[in-house]
Amino acid sequence: MKIAIASGKGGTGKTTLSTNLASFIAESRECVLSDLDVEEPNSGLFIKAELIHEEDKFKMIPEWEKSKCELCGNCQAVCNFNAVLKMGKMIMVFPELCHGCYACSELCPTDSLPMKQKKMGELKFYKKGNLNFIESKLIIGEEQAVPLIKQTIDYVDEKFGEDVIKIFDSPPGTSCPVIEATKDADFVILVTEPTPFGLHDLKLAVETVKQMEKPFGVVINRHGIGNDGVEMYCREDNIDIIARIPNDRLIAEIYSRGELLYSTIPSVKEAVKSISNYVDKFNSQKKRETK
Ligand code: SF4
Ligand code: SF4
Repeated sequence: MKIAIASGKGGTGKTTLSTNLASFIAESRECVLSDLDVEEPNSGLFIKAELIHEEDKFKMIPEWEKSKCELCGNCQAVCNFNAVLKMGKMIMVFPELCHGCYACSELCPTDSLPMKQKKMGELKFYKKGNLNFIESKLIIGEEQAVPLIKQTIDYVDEKFGEDVIKIFDSPPGTSCPVIEATKDADFVILVTEPTPFGLHDLKLAVETVKQMEKPFGVVINRHGIGNDGVEMYCREDNIDIIARIPNDRLIAEIYSRGELLYSTIPSVKEAVKSISNYVDKFNSQKKRETK
């Protein structure tokens, strides 16, 4: 069971929910939490676990070999990402723009663009009891999140069997990194706030998951502020509201200390318990349907 936790924008409480839900589930069974917000991972602030493994992650980019090049310009013509440029008698490759698609390298008539490894980020694996925490982070200057997200998910899939519940803390927004982080999920939890801004971003996120044909539900964070626009929208569109996390000053205080909430605040514990039960029910139903 893979659960992606996403939101239309940052700052809605996605990481709070991911870390509390994963830690709650890990009290009774093995669970993996993976922070896929590789540009700015912050789940690690709340998970105090032991580092047991770390590795560099690489992507492949072409490197120009001047001596063989005939300056035909094919490479520039085939690159869809403007990552190769022919400038006079020079071929310039822009690694930040390169998607590692191999087109220029494969189509170069003189093999002048062999693909070479380039470090793009680091992956760290922490463990505490039943909780496995995997975090990846792009190195400074590296702009493309998608390849690192993909490699991180592959790492989680290789390390953990299907019986282990996997929670992916997705990047915010609705662009390519979120698609990559949610496309393999069995279920997507969309976290929002009950405000007009929250509703606007929730609608965008809902459109995205609908286009991906993913089952999903909504968690309302800071319930009690704003208005009932999100509730009405979900009711009209038959979207399940799985849990409501109340707006509480104590939550902000505990959060600012980098601590988990559910062990101190009963309403948060109730919320993560409801989500865990909902996900279990969904999983059992899915298993029955595939039998
Ligand atoms: S395709 Fe190959 S030979 Fe042609 S310009 Fe590019 S690097 Fe040079
Ligand atoms: S590998 Fe693909 S994206 Fe990268 S420079 Fe070559 S054609 Fe462009």
